[in-house]
Amino acid sequence: MKEAHRIFLSEKEMPKRWYNIQADLPTPLRPPLNPATRQPVKAEDLAAIFPPALIEQEMSQERWIPIPEEVLKIYALWRPTPLVRAFRLEQALQTPARIYYKNEGVSPSGSHKTNTAVPQAFYNRAAGIKRLATETGAGQWGSALSLACNYFGLECTVYMVKVSYEQKPYRRSLMEVMGAKVYASPSEMTETGRKALRENPSSLGSLGLAISEAVEDAAGRDDTNYSLGSVLNHVLLHQSIIGLECLEQFKLIDDYPDVVIGCCGGGSNFGGIAFPFLHEKIRKDKDVRVIAVEPTACPTLTKGSYSYDFGDVASFTPLLMMYTLGHKYEPPGIHAGGLRYHGASPLLSSLYHDGLIEARAYGQIPVFEAAITFARSEGILPAPESAHAIRAAIDLALECKESGEARTILFNLSGHGHFDLTAYDAYLSGKMEDSTYPEELIEKLAASLPVIE
Ligand SMILES: *Cc1c(COP(=O)(O)O)cnc(C)c1O
Repeated sequence: MKEAHRIFLSEKEMPKRWYNIQADLPTPLRPPLNPATRQPVKAEDLAAIFPPALIEQEMSQERWIPIPEEVLKIYALWRPTPLVRAFRLEQALQTPARIYYKNEGVSPSGSHKTNTAVPQAFYNRAAGIKRLATETGAGQWGSALSLACNYFGLECTVYMVKVSYEQKPYRRSLMEVMGAKVYASPSEMTETGRKALRENPSSLGSLGLAISEAVEDAAGRDDTNYSLGSVLNHVLLHQSIIGLECLEQFKLIDDYPDVVIGCCGGGSNFGGIAFPFLHEKIRKDKDVRVIAVEPTACPTLTKGSYSYDFGDVASFTPLLMMYTLGHKYEPPGIHAGGLRYHGASPLLSSLYHDGLIEARAYGQIPVFEAAITFARSEGILPAPESAHAIRAAIDLALECKESGEARTILFNLSGHGHFDLTAYDAYLSGKMEDSTYPEELIEKLAASLPVIE
């Protein structure tokens, strides 16, 4: 084992292929179902809102998929991202554990989301599309897609969940700087939005609702496609570059993680860092634990049901087999907006169901406490979402302190928190509340899941 503070790969060493875990699943995925017929979705069903290359990737069983040259060139603006040894955090915790983090916060939009925004814009442009419609929670996905659309001369329209639109006005400004049109969701722009406003004029919105608005927008126009920042197989495929780089970086220092941790909203940054390690676990018998971390306010994996459900409130999307809290679940307005999604990626859900992935949930106060510990020791302000992973990494490091074991812990720093200072203010001034999730509500919503024979 060699000691290094920052482990860099050169541009030449950047992986040239994405890893598709569909090739290695112990149980094959159950197919997505057409919302109207409840029959498996056909490629044609998706063609109204996705370009052919992404539909092919969504269904592909190929283990390795080449990254297009044009995408590699744009990735090289910030990739490979550094793997950093958190010496100062280790010291602060007095732990014998070695803690590493992969810093995806160095991307131009400030999170891992740019890794999929760029290829999605690329494949849409290649298919002759002029405009993309999407939703955004905390604003990271909207920012990532707005700038990716710029690289390829596409227009971008973003439906931003209202609670975040109000909490994070500067994320909206950033999207507008990049040339995107941004609407608070529920909005007056779509039938779905207008209906939601009639039912509840003070709705905080949710990712599920914003997705319905964006899908409705895209389905209604020939020049427009829909773009999703998480959950789907092709998104997790693009994110695999994170873990693939980590594998190369660990080789350089002759170390290997015992535990890999990522926060989990729809599952894309977690899948991105963890799946290349699961590949080694499944194919090469590597002994590695992977842990997904979610908020107690939206405990999809730890409290949800494994069932077919819609991806959105209005039931426009295909039914996906996934862990879900029910597509009508409107999570409390916690500060980690990117983790307020009722479902989880079908790939991640299947692996979790098969026992290859562990999950845990934390309330936002212990999460912010961990964020502050990290910020004060490493000097980086983490996104509230990423701080969930930090909380778990710190807890594992503290377990090592108890047991005296020198484990190697890797977590994904999925993004920086420069736009989240309102949340940090709330925490530091003692105004943050720990929203416990409403158990009866979750039970009621679970009972309302669509029944599939
Ligand atoms: C969007 C986002 C998440 C959650 O989404 P996943 O698809 O679960 O990764 C986590 N961290 C950051 C910084 C995000 O922007």
